[in-house]
Amino acid sequence: MTKNYKLHYHPNLNLEKETTIELKSVEEVRICPHCGIATSPTFIDGYLIGDNNSYIPPTAYIIFHCPSCSKLYIAKYYIPHNYYITNDMMPYDFTPIFPSCTYPGKHILPEFTENIKQLSPMFVETYRQACYAEENEDTIGLAGLGYRKAIEFLIKDYLIKVDPDNKDKIIKMQLGKCIDKLDEDIQDIAKAATWLGNDEVHYFKKHGDYGIDDMKDFIQCLVADIERYYVKLKAREFVNANDNATK
Ligand SMILES: [Zn+2]
Repeated sequence: MTKNYKLHYHPNLNLEKETTIELKSVEEVRICPHCGIATSPTFIDGYLIGDNNSYIPPTAYIIFHCPSCSKLYIAKYYIPHNYYITNDMMPYDFTPIFPSCTYPGKHILPEFTENIKQLSPMFVETYRQACYAEENEDTIGLAGLGYRKAIEFLIKDYLIKVDPDNKDKIIKMQLGKCIDKLDEDIQDIAKAATWLGNDEVHYFKKHGDYGIDDMKDFIQCLVADIERYYVKLKAREFVNANDNATK
């Protein structure tokens, strides 16, 4: 959700001058970095800085309060660099700005069940690596690529489990074709996660209104769906084995 907040601005970091107040349209941090719960945080205060002389790009730092765990954190926002500062003035603009990282950093590694760990160890490992990339300001740009790779492992390992005779074919198959082989009711969620993942890999972003958090929501849903089918499959194997044993 985007909200408008008043931020203090020190023109060119000249602390002897009075701060001015700038109104900025800010995309909220969705997940609290302390407790990992999705909330709408309370704005406490915020600052805009930027210094042409020291090559510090316009950046916003905002302090938020999490209503869930009652802790404070700071979110950092880069202002698009075409808005350089002139005459000590921050440009007047209401294009939303997006959080690039939080202090403290996010701890967002989800727990996967034994079924998923057993089904696709490479999915779990690649997802974990993508989370680490997302937590670190220096590697955050690589997180989307990692999540996209993780999706591919999950879908292919699941298909191989369901159809082991075609393992070699599935390994080499394009991901889109693999998704077509999934049960119909999980195809949409797999497509949505993959398309957003492709956006993270390519130069041109087709789905600009969606981001990594949406892709992760879709992956979590895909994991839950695949786990449900995987458990059904195990049950069927169990029943068949016992049917044969009792014949
Ligand atoms: Zn919290």
